[in-house]
Amino acid sequence: ETAVSQFIQTVEQAPMAISITDTDANILYVNPWFCQTTGYGLQEIKGENHSILSYRTTPAEVYQGLWNQLKKGRSWQGRLINRRKNGERYLADVIVTPLTDGEGETTHFLGIHRDVTETH
Ligand code: FAD
Repeated sequence: ETAVSQFIQTVEQAPMAISITDTDANILYVNPWFCQTTGYGLQEIKGENHSILSYRTTPAEVYQGLWNQLKKGRSWQGRLINRRKNGERYLADVIVTPLTDGEGETTHFLGIHRDVTETH
């Protein structure tokens, strides 16, 4: 078994919603847990902006804080009010982090989130 197939297996089976976007937050990849959490399939959400998950309730300042961190090359952690495909609202515990190339340039963003509605 190669390291690459192990990495793929890990991401595909991780019990967290994982997404990879371009630098404008357009979705390139989501894992099966993400699909289960949000109700969107990979093919239908690919190419959509990550804001598709916004319930439009989280204050704009929170998103500004998120983007300020990302633009500085830093990770951001926080709570966002998200919307599933079926319209249902859920509270998401989110970590967003820049992915960089050999020169330290941001090439993508990685998102990891969990539905924490039940615990709040
Ligand atoms: P936006 O148009 O996104 O604007 C909100 C603020 O962010 C503004 O101040 C704007 O200037 C700034 N901004 C937006 N895009 C950029 C950019 N490319 N560069 C610099 N500044 C920018 N949002 C959620 O609601 N739920 C999530 O689960 C979630 N997960 C994310 C995961 C990843 C990996 C990334 C990169 C982003 C995620 N976001 C998530 C944030 C999402 O991309 C949107 O910024 C957010 O949903 C607000 O959308 P909006 O259309 O209301 O506002």
